[in-house]
Amino acid sequence: MTNQKRIAIIGSTGSIGTQTLETIDTFPELFKAQVITARRSADLLISQARKHRPALVVIADNGLYQPVRDALTPLGIEVAAGEKAIAEAAARDDVDTVVTATVGYSGLEPTMEAIRSGKEIALANKETLVVAGELITRMLSRSGARIIPVDSEHSAIYQCLVGEATESVNKLIITASGGPFRTFEKERLASVSPADALRHPNWQMGAKITIDSATMMNKAFEIIEARWLFDIAPERIEAVIHPQSIIHSMVEFTDGAVKAQLGVPDMKLPIRYALGCAKRLPVDNGFLSLSDMSALTFEKPDTDRFPCLGYARLALEKKGNSACIINAANEIAVEAFLKGRIRFTDIPELIAYSLDKVSFIPSPTYTEYVATNAEARNVASDHISDLNIKRHSTI
Ligand code: MG
Repeated sequence: MTNQKRIAIIGSTGSIGTQTLETIDTFPELFKAQVITARRSADLLISQARKHRPALVVIADNGLYQPVRDALTPLGIEVAAGEKAIAEAAARDDVDTVVTATVGYSGLEPTMEAIRSGKEIALANKETLVVAGELITRMLSRSGARIIPVDSEHSAIYQCLVGEATESVNKLIITASGGPFRTFEKERLASVSPADALRHPNWQMGAKITIDSATMMNKAFEIIEARWLFDIAPERIEAVIHPQSIIHSMVEFTDGAVKAQLGVPDMKLPIRYALGCAKRLPVDNGFLSLSDMSALTFEKPDTDRFPCLGYARLALEKKGNSACIINAANEIAVEAFLKGRIRFTDIPELIAYSLDKVSFIPSPTYTEYVATNAEARNVASDHISDLNIKRHSTI
């Protein structure tokens, strides 16, 4: 089969990664998993490789190299380990499309490699554009690479923009489910548990993004992502709460018309659209039944209860490395919250603190982004220790 598109999935064992492999399974005549990579989930990575027989498998954690190699080399599968090997995998000649399905800052380097080598990129790692949107946009304009978003909101906007002139766009309207705490009073948010936060009403996603949805940091990131992806002024991007998650986002045009993209809340839909490179791949199920729906409703987002949402504007106004700081502090805060070390309401507090303390760089280079990420993570981690010492000493 010579017409198969060869796919590298950076982060194949996570939520988007496994759903990408399922999509490849549905269209074996169109796609082949050429490279799969994982951070630490060696067992799942091995079983995925046994099934899909990629040319290359990479495990980020060097300590897990041996068991993966022992399991897969007898099958004729090349095995490598380490962060650098993952970035190199994204640039291989035998790869047509790179799916960046990792979570967090770690997606940056492989995405940059994929851009440099002019690949087609199905971008699921929103942090890449959050952390270094300006740099990535500059790189994209110089290379022949093309990004198709996998994030459902951005996929929706992308679809609404097909056939439209840039100057006709008035506003991007990003929908948000509002997460599991949409109706909670402010006071109640201080005592919610990680288990409460992990119960998302509409979407099945990984732990990090589910917590980001609960704090609405995810929506803030998506505003920043949209700013760079669609090259639009921040004031022309609006977020609206739409609890049913049926409208995945909208575009308002200068004549007053609004286009929306609707569908069941299933990430396979944007994955299919991105893998197909904006072509529609037909499926047998997963269709929307509008007559079974009683209402599609909308609300204004509340930045008082969900301050993280407001940080998108702050970052886009301050520019420089501020979104990188917010992202790093958020990664540390979410990790600490999931481990029960801080309260839910400490997450925005920790981000604001880090943004204030970490050195601001107006026009950062790649090396400066790396340094900012490291500094912000340290500042946030130290502040968590301070918070805990203070709290324990007052009990
Ligand atoms: Mg999204």
